[in-house]
Amino acid sequence: MQSKINKTIIEMVYGNITEETTDAIVNAANEHLAGGAGVDGAIHRAGGPAIMDECRKIGGCPTGQAVITTGGNLKAKYVIHTVGPIYRDGIRNEAKLLESAYRNSLELARNKNLRSISFPAISTGVYGYPANEAAYIAIKTCVDFAQDNTDIKLIRHVLFSKDFYDIFSSQLKNLI
Ligand code: ADP
Repeated sequence: MQSKINKTIIEMVYGNITEETTDAIVNAANEHLAGGAGVDGAIHRAGGPAIMDECRKIGGCPTGQAVITTGGNLKAKYVIHTVGPIYRDGIRNEAKLLESAYRNSLELARNKNLRSISFPAISTGVYGYPANEAAYIAIKTCVDFAQDNTDIKLIRHVLFSKDFYDIFSSQLKNLI
């Protein structure tokens, strides 16, 4: 499903983010940019070693921030690596940090003049963020961004299971 907010289409798809053809895909990385399991492992495997070479040069990324590298062998030209929070109890600034991860990724894409970006469900795997709350923050941050910024034409949320697709889609319906 999709919805147009101002000049930007916000879209939910069920699939594998490594296949995406948007200008950038976002990686749910860790602070050391060291590679890991989940979506990070899938992106490095599909994109090849050029991505990790650049990650090593950058050195790291604090939680809530974002950095950009080549997309290597991926269809997407760039990978934006952002670090979502590890969810503990919800009272350690997790919501603000998750919002920052989305917002800083969008701002980096805009500053690079990119027109389209795909996000995975940041922090909802190994980092344990409850899916409903993570979906609300993800979509609210993207909707707010689209209301104030017109350069990015497509923001796609790529969900790796039907359950996540349904959760994200219902949050989008609630927010528009
Ligand atoms: P985090 O450490 O931020 O929780 P994970 O990689 O463990 O990151 O999980 C984030 C989300 O990405 C999870 O919802 C997981 O199901 C999803 N995911 C894993 N592989 C892929 C993929 N290839 N494409 C899209 N989403 C994926």
